[in-house]
Amino acid sequence: MRIPLIAGNWKMYKNHLEAVELVSELHPLVSGLAGIEIAVCPPFTALADVSRLLGDLRSPVKLGAQDVYPAAEGAFTGEISPGMLKALGVEYVIVGHSERREILKESDSFVAEKVKAVLDAGMKPILCVGETDTEREAGKALSKVEGQLEAALASLSREEMGLTVIAYEPIWAIGTGKTATPEDAQEMNGFIRGWLEGRFGAEVAGSTRILYGGSVKPDNAAELMAMPDVDGALVGGASLQAKDFAAIARSVS
Ligand code: PEP
Repeated sequence: MRIPLIAGNWKMYKNHLEAVELVSELHPLVSGLAGIEIAVCPPFTALADVSRLLGDLRSPVKLGAQDVYPAAEGAFTGEISPGMLKALGVEYVIVGHSERREILKESDSFVAEKVKAVLDAGMKPILCVGETDTEREAGKALSKVEGQLEAALASLSREEMGLTVIAYEPIWAIGTGKTATPEDAQEMNGFIRGWLEGRFGAEVAGSTRILYGGSVKPDNAAELMAMPDVDGALVGGASLQAKDFAAIARSVS
């Protein structure tokens, strides 16, 4: 059975004080929800305070990070290691978000190194994949995503794959208000599950969570999450409002 995961990607919003306020507001709204996992991914500067607060509240909300550098330590100015995140109680790490692939020019091979580094440090990667609108219009959505999966995941063991979460995030739907239809999301997530089965076997494919992300809101979450291969959501904008994020979680719970 796959337990749905609703993860909030706060991007570069909320300083450490605002982050604590948001989690304080969110915790009572989601702490009674059953059959679902909820994670928040604040900016690096807020991780320590949010981690402490979640611990003090004994909150079921898990802590995630938005990125990582794939080395244990060293002369990498400005970067954060997997061990530093693990020491803060981080459980999930978003890897290969399209904003990093596009704005910071992260390559498929760099993303693959990050996936491995997260797993080696005992955390779970949330690997983001997805196509641009031009690629979709050219009928290249599936092949683009297949290439990203091959590059980032093909060398993992079955056990490592079992710990990894995939998020299908069509780039044209991120932060644009344009959501994929439930059928579009199902088509891609079903394709991803088929790819997983071919590479890792039916058991791993059946237990891996495949999320959808891209303008998920309280009013469209339920229909997206009702699709058989959509196992939760990676939520950007709507995760910055406790009420909206909780409403999305409730529609899945
Ligand atoms: C995201 O950044 O992962 C995302 C899905 O953003 P939004 O929900 O704002 O489209």
